[in-house]
Amino acid sequence: MTARRIDGRAIARKVRSEVAEKVTALAARGVTPGLAVVLAGEDPASQVYVRNKQRMAEKVGIAARTIRLPADVSADTLRAQVAELNADDAVHGILVQLPLPKSISSAEETEILGGIHPAKDVDGLHPMNLGRLVAGEDGFVACTPSGCMRLLAEMDVSLSGKRAVVLGRSTIVGKPMALLLTQANATVTVCHSRTQNVEALVREADVVVAAVGRPELVRGAWIKPGAAVIDVGINRNAEGKLIGDVAYDEVAEVAGCVTPVPGGVGPMTIAFLLSNVCRAAEIAASEG
Ligand code: NAD
Repeated sequence: MTARRIDGRAIARKVRSEVAEKVTALAARGVTPGLAVVLAGEDPASQVYVRNKQRMAEKVGIAARTIRLPADVSADTLRAQVAELNADDAVHGILVQLPLPKSISSAEETEILGGIHPAKDVDGLHPMNLGRLVAGEDGFVACTPSGCMRLLAEMDVSLSGKRAVVLGRSTIVGKPMALLLTQANATVTVCHSRTQNVEALVREADVVVAAVGRPELVRGAWIKPGAAVIDVGINRNAEGKLIGDVAYDEVAEVAGCVTPVPGGVGPMTIAFLLSNVCRAAEIAASEG
């Protein structure tokens, strides 16, 4: 079998055009959705991500600005910056780009992210939004897992009653992904660094989502024939080439459909960020 290649770029274009239509409708009401990205330090990957977010936001008519802070920024300054953006009516979505510099402890990071107003938390990392997701209520959901769900929907992958395995249990990808799949009535197993016999669990899965950060961890021999495989991982090989957590060529021989890296999940993450910003602006506009 040769798997269908899931074209994240094309599907992300479709999501962005939906967002652009909503932005136009908001403009008719005198509202321009606004995104503020807080970027602390010089992490090269973060610089690229933030540039892309800003460029894509502007393309759909979202007013985006990046607030650059030095690598030695204090937690107090970050908290104050978030508070200022919370109070700014032109800003509908706030994103604090992770990772924060090493000088910020993980407790401080949690506090800074928790300081973002839940109505502006377009990354879905505020405890209120995480709680809403657990409870199955409306709220902002992290962009990458939202994007993965849309990819599965666009490929007509049925989830109800199916076995899904999520590799990774981070708050930004693995955990919300598992919750979204559960909401869609899949039976979900979450694997992590201490899971034993990951391969045997993956082999039973109709849907596999890999979000680990280990190059080509998932091999063709792990995959149930016909399974849908979503590769969230972003890694660089020895030659500096971007590769995922899935050995694409091997897996494509067995799977029903699979995302490439690059060109799979990555573009969807940005598209859903824009979608969340637009939704935040719609909610703010309707509350007047
Ligand atoms: P993380 O480091 O926070 O989490 C990695 C998870 O993998 C942990 O929960 C860990 O327990 C688990 N893990 C480690 N070894 C494992 C194994 N052998 N089997 C199963 N699970 C194992 O990372 P993250 O932020 O969730 O990101 C994961 C990957 O996804 C990274 O490569 C990251 O760059 C990428 N990512 C991509 C996008 C995108 O838009 N495409 C967005 C976010 C993250």
